[in-house]
Parts: sequence; C-alpha cells; structure tokens
Amino acid sequence: MIEEVNVVVKPSESADIEKLKLLAAAETNRELGNINHIEILKRSIDARGRSVKINLRLKLYINETPDEKQIWELHPIQAREVKNQKEIYIVGAGPAGLFAALQAIENGCKPIIIERGKSVRDRRRDLAAINKNHVVNSDSNYCFGEGGAGTYSDGKLYTRSGKRGSINKVLHTFVHHGADVQILIDAHPHIGTNKLPKIIENMRAAIIECGGEILFNHRLEDIHWSNHQLNGISICSVETGSITQLKTDKLILATGHSARDIYRLLDKNKITIEAKPFALGLRVEHPQSLIDSIQYHCAVNEVMDTRRYLPAASYSLVEQVNHRGVYSFCMCPGGIIAPCATAPGEIVTNGWSPSKRNNPFANSGIVVEVNEIDFKPYQNFHALAGMQFQAAVEQNAWQHGGMTQTAPAQRLVDFVNKTISSDLPTCSYQPGVASVDLHQVLPVAVADRLRLAFGMFGKKMKGYLTNEAIVVGVESRTSTPVRIPRHNDTLCHIAVNGLYPCGEGAGYAGGIVSAAMDGIKCANAACG
Ligand SMILES: Cc1cc2nc3c(=O)[nH]c(=O)nc-3n(C[C@H](O)[C@H](O)[C@H](O)COP(=O)(O)OP(=O)(O)OC[C@H]3O[C@@H](n4cnc5c(N)ncnc54)[C@H](O)[C@@H]3O)c2cc1C
Repeated sequence: MIEEVNVVVKPSESADIEKLKLLAAAETNRELGNINHIEILKRSIDARGRSVKINLRLKLYINETPDEKQIWELHPIQAREVKNQKEIYIVGAGPAGLFAALQAIENGCKPIIIERGKSVRDRRRDLAAINKNHVVNSDSNYCFGEGGAGTYSDGKLYTRSGKRGSINKVLHTFVHHGADVQILIDAHPHIGTNKLPKIIENMRAAIIECGGEILFNHRLEDIHWSNHQLNGISICSVETGSITQLKTDKLILATGHSARDIYRLLDKNKITIEAKPFALGLRVEHPQSLIDSIQYHCAVNEVMDTRRYLPAASYSLVEQVNHRGVYSFCMCPGGIIAPCATAPGEIVTNGWSPSKRNNPFANSGIVVEVNEIDFKPYQNFHALAGMQFQAAVEQNAWQHGGMTQTAPAQRLVDFVNKTISSDLPTCSYQPGVASVDLHQVLPVAVADRLRLAFGMFGKKMKGYLTNEAIVVGVESRTSTPVRIPRHNDTLCHIAVNGLYPCGEGAGYAGGIVSAAMDGIKCANAACG
C-alpha cells in the first residue's frame, strides 16, 4: 500500500534516505522493514527559527515495490500531426507563445509562431554584444528572441496564480522537455539560465515535429481588422525589410511587456489599450555569503559549513511606505545583474542565475508601485502615458550612466544617505557601473520611498542595509505599463474578434509560469 506523511528534518538529514525511512516509520507506526521505498513529493525550507528546518512530504511504499515508470507520472503534451490542420498565428515565442503553440497542437490546430528575435543559439551573440560592446539589437536581446524574456533568467517557476490554470501542467511540460524532476518537488523551483535554452530548443523541436512552424527574425508590423473582426497581419523580415501580408482570423498576441512598438501599433490602429500601474525601482546586490548568513542565522565565516546542505539563500521583502507598496522583485540568489534594454539609449536591469546559483552575489529588484499620478506629465500620450514615463526613466538612467550600457549605481547606505559613493564595490553587471546620485535618476516619489524602505528592510534583515551592497539603476520592466483588454469568456480583444491578447505584455501574467498558463488558456479559446 501507499501512504503519505510529512516530516521535518535538519538540512543534513534531508537527503539521507535511511534516516527518512526511520522517521517515516516512527511517524506512521509502521515496521521499518515494511517500508520498501520512499519518494520525496514536496520539499520546502523553513528558515524562520534559529535552526533551519526542511519540511518534506514523503510517499511511502509499504510492502510494495514502485513501478519505475509510475514514480513520476509525467504529462507530456498529446503530440498530434497538425501540418494540414486549421492554422492559428501566434506572435511571440516567449513562454506564453510556446505554451500556446503546444496547446494548439493538443487541440488539433497548426500553430505558426512569428518571432522578431533569433533562435536561442543565435541570440547569444547579441547578448555578448550588449555585455561587451554596449550594442543593443532592438530585435534580439535579453527580452526578445526564442524563449522570450525568460530564456536567460533564473527560471524561477513559482507563481501565486494557481487559480488561472494548471501549474502542474506547465511544470510537467518543462520536465518532459528536459528540466530536472526536482522542479516538481521544490516549493520554490527554478531551472537556471544554463539549462533553459536546451529546454526551449526541445519545445521548438516538438512543435515542428508535429507540423507547427516557427518563423524567426520576423516582426509583426501591422494588424488588419474591420467590422470588429481580425482579417490579417503584416510581418516584416528583420533581415531584408520585406513585408508579407498574411490572411488570418485568429491571432494570439503574446509579445511581452517590452514590445513598445506593438502598443504604439495598437494605439495607431485604434485597437483599445489602457494605461496600467506597474512598479519601478533599482536592483540591489549583496555578497551572497552575507544574505546566507542573515537568512540561515550563522556568522559569515560559518556560511560554507551551513551551505553544505542548503541552497543559496533568497529573501522576499515588502513594506508599505507612504501609501505605496515597496517590494523585492525577481530575487536571484547566486546570480548576475543583466542588461535588459531593448533599444539603444536606455538602461534596464533584471537578474539571472545558473541552475547551481553559485555566483558570489545575491541580487534583487526593489521596486515601488507607480500609477497614473506619476504618469501625469505624460497624460497627452493617453493609454501610453505609463509607457512613456517608464521609457523616460530608462533614458535618464542611460544619460547618467555615461550614454553606454554602463549603469548608474551607488553604494546602498550612500543611496539612503543621499551621498555620492567615492568608489563602488565589485558588481556582477558586466557592462560596468558608474558612481552617480541615483536620486537624480529616479522620480522623487520612487527614490524617497526606496530610501525609507531600505531602512525598514535593514531592520527586518539585520546586516542587509550595508555599504557592501550596491544599488544599480533602473529596474523598470516589472510588469506591463499597458493592458490590452479582452473579454473574460472568449478571451478575444474587447473590440476585435479573433485577436487574443495573451501573456505578460497584455497584462494577464507576471512571470514564466503564469505566462505559460495564459498561453494555454488562449490556445484553448482560439482553437475552440
Ligand atoms: C533577465 C530576466 C529574468 C527573469 N527571471 C524570471 C524568473 O526567474 N522567473 C519568472 O517567472 N520570470 C522571470 N522573468 C520574467 C519572465 O521572463 C516573463 O514574465 C515571461 O517571459 C513573460 O512571458 P511572455 O511570453 O508573456 O512574454 P515574453 O517572454 O516577453 O515574450 C515575448 C516574445 O515576443 C516577441 N516579440 C515582441 N514583439 C514582437 C513583434 N513585433 N513581432 C514578433 N515577435 C515579437 C519577443 O521577441 C519575445 O520573444 C525574467 C525576465 C528577464 C528579462
């Protein structure tokens, strides 16, 4: 028979199967000899108390031997031949677009993905050009290209959007395409930037094998509609500039939150869009050993020992400051700060980590909610006011950084004290950092709240507020500044039938998993 049980263990015991069997036997009053096999179903770290604990949910095989194939009941996509089936166009090969394509196949439709960027492999050269030469290709960068913004990321796979779809389906699909099964166990799973590209390539291969198509280096240039119905699209070859018109009455628009040209296109074509609040701030970077010592309650010189059984520590911080939320965003333990601009003349930061999270730095966005009050100077842009505000801050950061991809930065305590740093600590941001007054870079409403919040965070996490840490500007692409409204039931745009606004760029997701779930939903709606 099979039984499940929860146990709480020390980190050093969490991978010791014999110890776990003993604990499970005691917990369930079973004879140790009758437990033939145990499987860890869920794992989470509890670092709230003085000594760190690991919570495990175990599956016990009592007088039973598991069938290896059943240990992980993977749910691969239902592969079908769709070459000659009804076509669904999908713009954007990010998580939303890729999962929409896989779901379209399950539903018996042929997905055709249009992606402005390059394949994951070819994209690497453009990332190197940003990091080394400060050259930003506006079609291929950390946000644009196969796999979307999530490809060169930490690959954190947790979401609070459980109600929006099946998180398990998304996780199992990643595992089916090569992700480690541990992502099904960990409470806070992540894949890592070194592993994501291969998984994305495998997803592409699955789509093509079933008869789907992916057109890289092609940008959506125009959307044609009349009488509330989508008629077709125009796409432009990034390499030759040639325009092709395609007839279609179904388009899943999954272009992410950095595709400003798409928001402008919708606005120009009178396809309703709305300004929406988002969040803006800085990326902070500490030595990982400092964060480990704070989170795991040990001295910095004891971290090596403590970390033998524990991963690089993460944190999550939130405060209300003068009626606005200030919170940590996309924390990357053992990570690197990435230059995520999508056009020349702007600075945008985000972060990534390898699967082992073994870089010596811990970085995180720390952002303040911004809304229409902040967008007021741009109100003539109407629905694009938030986007213009966001772009202006990114351009200001570029000016202050020295008009390259060098990012404006300050030591953390100096930022809080409004003092320009005389020098800067080593920082993982590869294009380099320049010492400036970040209060000149950010709007006052944001900078002042950040100062106060860092003070509060320093009280919550003793040692966090230190000049060993650096703040780098700006963290501005936390979520979309524009919503593309759609009907709740059909998921079609409120004015254009057949147009399915999808994923993060449309305002229906925030992160890899929720974008993937929205892709699945939109494909179900479009194929129905
Ligand atoms: C460095 C970094 C690290 C991140 N880390 C994490 C993390 O650890 N966990 C997490 O959950 N989230 C993370 N995110 C956020 C996550 O990547 C996004 O939430 C997610 O990718 C959104 O998915 P999407 O498919 O909606 O859009 P995107 O991933 O943005 O994909 C949109 C795609 O559309 C394409 N496109 C845009 N315009 C056009 C056009 N005109 N024509 C054709 N194609 C177009 C783009 O090239 C892009 O490939 C990170 C983001 C970045 C940049």
